[in-house]
Amino acid sequence: MNSLKNMYLDGYKLKVENAHSLELGPIRPPSEAYSLLIRITRNCPWNRCKFCHIYKGQKFQLRSVEEIKQDILTIKAIQDKINELSWKSGYGGGVEEIAGMVFNSSPNETFRNVALWLYAGGTSAFLQDANSLIMRTNELAEVIKFLKQTLPSITRVTSYARSKTAAKKKLEELIELRKAGLSRLHIGLESGYDRLLQYMDKGVTAADHIAGGRKVVESGISLCEYVVLGLGGRKMWREHAIETAKVLSEIDPDFIRVRTLTIKHGMPLYDEVANSNFIRLTDEEILEEEKILIENLDCHSYFVSDHITNLLQEIEGKLPEDKEKMLACIARFQALSPDERANFRVGRRVGIYSQLDDLYDIDKHQMVEQAIHKLSQGNNEVDEKVTYRLMERFI
Ligand code: SF4
Repeated sequence: MNSLKNMYLDGYKLKVENAHSLELGPIRPPSEAYSLLIRITRNCPWNRCKFCHIYKGQKFQLRSVEEIKQDILTIKAIQDKINELSWKSGYGGGVEEIAGMVFNSSPNETFRNVALWLYAGGTSAFLQDANSLIMRTNELAEVIKFLKQTLPSITRVTSYARSKTAAKKKLEELIELRKAGLSRLHIGLESGYDRLLQYMDKGVTAADHIAGGRKVVESGISLCEYVVLGLGGRKMWREHAIETAKVLSEIDPDFIRVRTLTIKHGMPLYDEVANSNFIRLTDEEILEEEKILIENLDCHSYFVSDHITNLLQEIEGKLPEDKEKMLACIARFQALSPDERANFRVGRRVGIYSQLDDLYDIDKHQMVEQAIHKLSQGNNEVDEKVTYRLMERFI
């Protein structure tokens, strides 16, 4: 009697049972959009950063190894069902087509997660939530090994971690995790400026970032460090850019990813803005800050701007060889007329433009002009506060 729902695909029935559902965490990095999501801890053990709302009000919990293994077995059972359906409906065990259909009419979130992962080739998994390294090393290694044994198509396993936790692990422990199959860690560096880290209650110092980041690099686990553009606000923007570049240059991670500060209700920073303790930068000021950050980077990382909150998502390249190309992208925007800069900013925030060249698409340009007219209630100047509100939809 544990049948929840029967799903029909090409005339064949996919029986979904209560057991075929498991909990998922709220987020993953944009680059893990097609990864299988497995929640190995719940929420964030720190949970105090002023600019973060994701886990506020939620208590951190470790999950037991047995509970996580059970989730992995559930995923395996779903994979087997999709495989079986592929044979029955004449696809000869090829799961991509069936996974696409299951994704479009999934009976629950768990099936959507597994179907999307299979559709994308079934090779990558992301361990949720905010700081997986907080698990005991032997337990985390056991989970990763079990995952790879049970779902052998997985060749890449990644997760979020905090610098401080990485710094506390012995190098040998990180090497043990790499050998177990941990391929990449995503760390929220946010800033390398101590005063700002303290103000934001990040719970780490620049020295912690360097110690944790260097240890991950030395262990052979791939490292992606995230920076928040605009985090310094009016008071600390220049130091934020310069000190962050220094810390990143010391760490020399494989990837540096930027995302732009977006503030919404539920973040302690929201109240700081309301009390005028924190003055936000405009889009154009943030670009100037990003320019200083890139100018000061002295490392071999791949720089990526793949977050929808970034004004110029096209700033991307390998350091140091692509530094001039990236700076030229910023200079190109800054050389536009004030009207065109305003048009591009609104076009990005309403989701019509994705790159600077879109300015020369007549249809898109007209659509943005109409959006400006509407958002400015006819006076053709969109207030910065309106663009801030538009950005809130993205997080
Ligand atoms: S450590 Fe990360 S997840 Fe936790 S509160 Fe800070 S930004 Fe949010």
